[in-house]
Order: sequence, then C-alpha cells, then structure tokens
Amino acid sequence: MKHPIASTLIAWYSEHGRQLPWRQTRDAYCIWLSEVILQQTRVEQGLAYYLRFTERFPRIELLAAASEDEVLKLWQGLGYYSRARNLHAAARQVVAEFGGKFPADHDAIRSLRGVGDYTAAAIASLAYDLPHAVVDGNVYRVLSRLFDLDIPIDTTEGKRTYATLAQELLDKQHAATYNQAIMDFGATCCTPQNPHCDSCPLRDICQALTVGTVAVRPVKQGRTKIRDRYFHYLHLQANGQTLLHRREGGDIWQGLYEFPLIETSEVTDFATLIQSDPFRTWLGEQSFTLRETRPMALHQLSHQRLHTTFYRIEVEQLPAIDGTTCIREEELDDYAVARLTEKYLER
Ligand code: SF4
Repeated sequence: MKHPIASTLIAWYSEHGRQLPWRQTRDAYCIWLSEVILQQTRVEQGLAYYLRFTERFPRIELLAAASEDEVLKLWQGLGYYSRARNLHAAARQVVAEFGGKFPADHDAIRSLRGVGDYTAAAIASLAYDLPHAVVDGNVYRVLSRLFDLDIPIDTTEGKRTYATLAQELLDKQHAATYNQAIMDFGATCCTPQNPHCDSCPLRDICQALTVGTVAVRPVKQGRTKIRDRYFHYLHLQANGQTLLHRREGGDIWQGLYEFPLIETSEVTDFATLIQSDPFRTWLGEQSFTLRETRPMALHQLSHQRLHTTFYRIEVEQLPAIDGTTCIREEELDDYAVARLTEKYLER
C-alpha cells in the first residue's frame, strides 16, 4: 500500500516538479550522466555541462572512445575531477563488459566505476522504475525533519536507518516519480535554509516543525579536518613558450595540467622560494626576471584550503624539468586545467 507521505509528495511533484532535460528521458546513459554531473553541483551550473556532454557524446561508445584529456577538458570548471575520470572509466567498462549497452540491473549498475549506492538507486529507478529508494542530501533533510530524527547522517548507523526508512516510504509501483518527487521537494520546498513550511503540504505531520527543530535537522556528527596547503606556480616564459606539467595520481586534480609547482608547508615569500631546492635545481645558474607576482584568493576544496601564488618569470631558455611539456603560450587554452589556474589565465 502506498504510504500517505508518498502520495502527498507525488501530488506535490505533479504540480511543482521542475522540468529538466534528464527528467524527460528514460535513457539510462543520459540519466547516469546527469547524476554524475549534478553531484555537489547546482542544477543551473550542471545543466550547461549536461548539454555539452550529451551533444559531444550522444552515445556511451563515443564517450568511451574519447581521450581522458578531452573528457577532462569538457569537465573543466566543475571540480571533483575524479568524477570525470570515473565517468570515462565506467563508459569503457560498459563497452567492455556489457557490449556498450547500459546495464538494466541494479547490481550490475552498482558495479560500474564511481557508482555508489545513491547513483545506482537513481539510475535503476529513474531509467527502469526498479524499486530502489534514493538517499541523497535532499532526502536526508526531508526525512530528518518529517520524523525529527537526531541520529547523525554521517555515521554507519545513521545511513542504515535512513536507507531503511527511505525504502519503507518508497512507492514501489512508481519508483521513478516518487524518487524525483522527494528530491525535488527537498531542493525547492524543504530547503536547507528558510524552508517553505507555510505552504508545505506535509506541515501537519512534520514532527520537526511541531517541536521546533527544523533548523537543526539533519544532524551531522563532525566536520572533516581541513588541511592548509601552500602552492607556488612558476609560469616560466621564453620566446613565446612555457612549460606545463600533467598531475599524476594520489592527489587532487589528477590528469589536469598546471605550471611547474613548488609546494611549501607554510607561507613562503619569493626571496625564500628562490633559495629552495626545486627552484635552484630547475633554474640552475641562469638569470631570470620576475615579471609578475599574483597571489590568488583562498581556494577552498572539500578538505583542503589552497594558498596560491603565481609567479610569471621570464627566462632566456626554458629549463628541462622532469615531467613537463614545452608548449606555445597560445596553446594554453587547449589543455584542461583546474579552476584555480583557469582564473589566473583569465587575467
Ligand atoms: S514543514 Fe517545513 S520542515 Fe517540515 S517537511 Fe515541510 S518544509 Fe520541511
């Protein structure tokens, strides 16, 4: 039997649901693309990327056949680049393991690279109407308020409690519509700040509204420690050419390009930097002219705060630095770079 909360949410959705391109399709590939793009991204920003990806790669084989550089370039500006790499790897996996046809079974979908519980449930339900409840940030918020739950959402027990409750509420005959309804309701009505409780169709049964805890739901256990890092980029220039380095694994921005980087453990000025080992090794005895020092605004990632300065330095001859590529300055636009470098280059 359909839960009364599910009936109310579906009725609300039929009147207030947003019209978005990935809602007009049952194509699992397009739904998957939209889900990966929209993780930690606002719909307004994600929409442009979704359109760009579906236009360039209308079928999954085309995404699989693309180079990683091209995928990262198309992704540039969205952040969380591991998602783009996983997207690319999963497309290749679909071609290699499923003959290029997006799997229609929940466990097979869950086996794809980068696909977690949320994304698997979203694709299985939205594309194939399979009875899997989604639990994303919106769902956590809505359920925590409706049932006034104080169990932290970032604990194993909390996740299990919410997953069970979400599955109980799911309208199993209309999984796609129900899941879209509860996520949209959280995004536009039961919002993090200033939820629209006055016009909410569930206000009469909302326990957090009754006891006055709306503003403190959901509960999170603790914050992740933020690490400060100090980046010094050397934009070396000689005869219209410069050096770029491709970041490798084990750190942020894997696969993206950047100028040669010196990272220090604390605030460091240029006079100290030029005495440091990588700088002296790279530049050797050759003379140089510092043309510009550009400190950037603090760049915040999920667990890191980057304090960054770009130094534009003219040299007679570009040094040979391991792992770098010599390119012409006007080719800089052809390389996928992190947002931080993009901001510097936009000057
Ligand atoms: S009454 Fe307010 S807090 Fe409760 S579900 Fe509705 S919008 Fe959310």
